[in-house]
Amino acid sequence: MTTTNSIQVAAAEPVEPGQLLIDGQLTEAHSGRTFDVMYPGTGDRLTACAEGGPEDIEDAVAAARRAFLPWAKMKPSDRGRRLKCFADLIDQHSTRLAKLTTLEMGKPRRESETVDGPHTAMVFRYFGEWCNKVYGETCPVDPAYLNYTMKVPLGVVGAITAWNFPILTAAWKAAPALAMGNTVVLKPAEQSPLGAIELGKLALEADIPPGVFNVVPGFGPTAGAALSSHLGVDKLAFTGEHRTAQHILKASAGNLKKLSLECGGKSPHIIFDDADLNGAARSAFQGIFSNQGQVCNAGSRLFVHTSVHDEFMDKLIHRAKKLRLGDPMQRSTRSGPVVSATHRDKVNEYIRIGASEATIAFGADTDPLVDSPGYFVQPTIFTNVQNHMRIAREEIFGPVLSVIQFETEEQLIREANDTIFGLAAGVWTKDVSKAHRIAHAIDAGIIWVNCYDVYDMCSPFGGFKLSGIGKELGRHTLDLYTQTKSVWVHIGK
Ligand code: NAD
Repeated sequence: MTTTNSIQVAAAEPVEPGQLLIDGQLTEAHSGRTFDVMYPGTGDRLTACAEGGPEDIEDAVAAARRAFLPWAKMKPSDRGRRLKCFADLIDQHSTRLAKLTTLEMGKPRRESETVDGPHTAMVFRYFGEWCNKVYGETCPVDPAYLNYTMKVPLGVVGAITAWNFPILTAAWKAAPALAMGNTVVLKPAEQSPLGAIELGKLALEADIPPGVFNVVPGFGPTAGAALSSHLGVDKLAFTGEHRTAQHILKASAGNLKKLSLECGGKSPHIIFDDADLNGAARSAFQGIFSNQGQVCNAGSRLFVHTSVHDEFMDKLIHRAKKLRLGDPMQRSTRSGPVVSATHRDKVNEYIRIGASEATIAFGADTDPLVDSPGYFVQPTIFTNVQNHMRIAREEIFGPVLSVIQFETEEQLIREANDTIFGLAAGVWTKDVSKAHRIAHAIDAGIIWVNCYDVYDMCSPFGGFKLSGIGKELGRHTLDLYTQTKSVWVHIGK
């Protein structure tokens, strides 16, 4: 078993400091304050970023309000053209944006170049196409009246995002919001503000008018809280922890903001005895170790049928042994650091808790620390886990897998659903009836059968229970960024 893992990481290239982007202008914060953005690969300071606070949020919301009517009243096809141009520009700058993502949050460049950069462009293109495809309806009322509905924008949308997919989660919110005629104030996560600022600059290049898309980096309790409680913000779209979502829910009460909340998970990934064990092992591996497990729908609770448990674990551990932590900027690296020193310490603490609760089948048997100044965590697999243990109940958000054995379908369903979360689940079986039965029985917003973590722009993404409120992506998300107006006209009989 691995106890230490020595990793060489090259120093990061210099990066321009980040500024606020309000009303089309790059500015410093009112307070003049800045905060450090760190490079997780080495643990060194990458650059500084202006620290937006309540006064800056005030300015950004005012700018977004001024920009709202002209944007909302623009011909939908014209809005769509600009959003698609924005998508093209993101594509042109995709490699640069991906590099920035790797530098600010540490995911391997291979992932940021294949997912974060190109998918961000795809999201803006997909929603750009929707601008002139949302219809109202006429209602079959008394013929003395004409009654019709219109889908109208909400106004100013506040978007608060997490650091694990910094530009992509920003796109998931900003793209449908802008497509439906809203304006946006984005507060990116403090760990990874730089890519979001670059998106804001590209939006201006795409002829999206100043004030339509504003970016205010800063901290949660100051900038985030000011945005959540601001009476001039009509809707808040959030990605992050459910405990933060609970704060936001309360802070939004003042003007009954519309809310969509994408929170965490402890998703069950289920391997039946009749499964394709090779495919399932590949999927279980990807499901917990991609992006160092910092994925909301990570398959972090692996339920394996007792009769195939040992054979399956051999296959999974065989794969895990090939995992090499490395320099995230090298395109050959599959596994990089986690986002911050604080997060590394949190994940390592869970590994220590797990070592006292269950059996380490892969990972660090004595000390989970990796020999590197960067924020690396030793990927770890625990077996003999019981569903009541902390490593099975709490979201670790790191490369830590809890393997639970099951014997009957009834036990499986009970335990898989015994969680505060309900984001996603995976099921591996060749029995089509069983696959559907389990898909129906699991309380989660997304179910993958004989696959895991597949997604598409046109398919709704979002969870049940404390995993959130509302669906992102697909046409379902348009409902989150519009409201229905009913117009009655007396025409006589
Ligand atoms: P977090 O909740 O700590 O922070 C998320 C955002 O909220 C940040 O921008 C932060 O500054 C802001 N924030 C913090 N306190 C705030 C407050 N009081 N008021 C307003 N804003 C505040 O989460 P995180 O650690 O950045 O991200 C990890 C979490 O995000 C995990 O739980 C993960 O599962 C979840 N996540 C969910 C999805 C999804 O789509 N369901 C996607 C990615 C991440």
